This record gives sequence, structure tokens and C-alpha cells, in this order.
Amino acid sequence: MAAAAVEEIRATAYVGFDSITSQIEHKLLKRGFQFNVIVVGQTGLGKSTLINTIFASHLIDSKGRLEADEPVRQTTEIQAVSHVIIENGVRLRLNINCWDPIVKYIKDQHSAYLRKELTAMRDRHIQDTRIHCCLYFISPTGHSLRAIDVIVMKKLSEVVNVVPVIAKADSLTFEEREAFKQKIRAELVYHNIRLYPFDTDENDEEEIQLNEGIRNIIPFAVVGSERNVIIDGKSVRGRKNRWGVVNVEDEDHCEFVHLRNFLTRTHLQDLIETTAQIHYEAFRSKQLLALKEGVQQRPPTNQ
Ligand code: GDP
Repeated sequence: MAAAAVEEIRATAYVGFDSITSQIEHKLLKRGFQFNVIVVGQTGLGKSTLINTIFASHLIDSKGRLEADEPVRQTTEIQAVSHVIIENGVRLRLNINCWDPIVKYIKDQHSAYLRKELTAMRDRHIQDTRIHCCLYFISPTGHSLRAIDVIVMKKLSEVVNVVPVIAKADSLTFEEREAFKQKIRAELVYHNIRLYPFDTDENDEEEIQLNEGIRNIIPFAVVGSERNVIIDGKSVRGRKNRWGVVNVEDEDHCEFVHLRNFLTRTHLQDLIETTAQIHYEAFRSKQLLALKEGVQQRPPTNQ
């Protein structure tokens, strides 16, 4: 089968408010909000496992409540949609636009939001299915980005906040991991792929530093696991094999905790705002301009 993309999973989890910093405005919390993540990458790279590790372990428990006796906030949820890039053996058919269904999916969400915004009797609260973050899974080859990764990331970065991750980082040594990260960063620059986070004139010193910190980590080298293992008598999320144990939540083992903090604490609000102000706004103005031009070109009706 030629390169293609298919929708794979659709899971719902809840944001754990215990983990969100004060940067999230009170109003936002009170009203509830949606945070939609899409995971993209070859099948078998650990996408479902990572999503479950991030959101299931930490977030489902709290179900969006500040206190245990509060009612569950149904409007606050994390949507994870997974798209798989399917390849045919070794040779990739780059002429087949495997990114098209993913880009279309993202644009469809923008389109749905715009339609609701334009409805005269619109609801006060619009159901937000726009994708706020795309986790792009890179295979831990230790060499360089594959041609398809370059193309797909470039296409996706035009419509969504793309965050690259090195999947199954436990298969690389620390030296290999670091060298691979540097190679990927250099390649992203070489191919002129501008990824999230973006600096704007409005950013204050703290935000600039926060973004710089993230740029120094990206791509996050992560390990996922849906199982718990016992380390020093404690049950932790990890992967055990014959030569040792990887503790997913140990910062010395991988960057899972950094990724989770990035998604659920430090950049949650900014991912949502950047989606609205940059990606959605670009889509919206293009659509409205096309609409205006269409109206102008239409011959006047006989009254
Ligand atoms: P998906 O097809 O991308 O969603 O991949 P899955 O989440 O189904 O994972 C595929 C296989 O890889 C499963 O057997 C997982 O247990 C395993 N796996 C997932 N994450 C990791 C990881 O970080 N390291 C290793 N070594 N294996 C992993």
C-alpha cells in the first residue's frame, strides 16, 4: 500500500487542574476549555502508549476537578487523535500526499469552528475541536530525519503547532540521543521548518526564556509505558528488560516529564492561544477573503 494516513484512535481524558499553574486564568478554568492533541507518526512508534502514559496516569483521576466533591467538568477535556503514516516497505512513495488527510482533518476543525462563529444565533460557548498541538513521532534511528519526516513536518507546521518527539528513546544511548537531537535541530533549520514555540513582540522576558528552554530540549526524547514496575520498593511507570529498568518519570532516564510539563503546565495556555491567534486566524482571514471576493464577483441579482 502506498503512503497514506488513517485515523486510529480517539480518546478522551480530562485535564488535571492540580497540575495547571496560575498562568491559566480563573475565567478559563471556570468556563472549562478543550485541549486537542494529535499524534502523528509511523505505526508502532509508541503513540498510543505515550498518550496513555501522559494523560491516563496523571489526568484521568482528577477529572477536571479542583476538589474531590466538585462535579466533574464535562467541558474540559483532552482529545487525542492519532494519525498513522503507513509506508510500503523500504521505499517511500513521496509523490503520494500522505499528509493530505491529516492537514485536511486540521483544516476541517478550523472550518467547523468558523461556521459556528459566523452563525448569528451562536452559542456562548463554541465546542472547540481545533487541534492545539501535533506531537510528531520520529523513529529512533540515530541517523537523520527521513525525507518523509521533513516533508510532513513542513506541511503540518503551516497549519498547526508541531512538536517533534524522538519515540522509544530507550533504544538509543545517551550519546546517540544527544547527537541525534542536534542533528534533527540542524536539519529543521536547514529545511527552514519553523516549529512551535514562536516568539512574538508581546512576549515578556519570562516567556522568552521559557521558549528558549523548550527549544533547547526539542525534540523531546521520550519513553512510554502502560505498565508499572517496582523500583526501590515503589511502583512507577517503567519498562523492564533483562539489563535494567527505565523509569519513565525519571528525568535522568528520559524527557517524558519535560514533555508532560510542557503540555499540561507551562505551554498549555500558549498552545491554545497560538492556535487561535496564528493558525486559526490565518485560516479564517483566507476564508473570509475568498468569501468576499466570491460575493464581489457574483453578478448583481435582479430586485
Ligand atoms: P503506535 O502504533 O504508534 O500507537 O504504537 P503503540 O503505542 O501501539 O506501541 C507499539 C509497541 O511499542 C508496543 O509493544 C509498546 O509496548 C512498545 N512501546 C511503546 N512505547 C515504547 C517505548 O518508549 N520504548 C520501547 N522500547 N517500546 C515502546
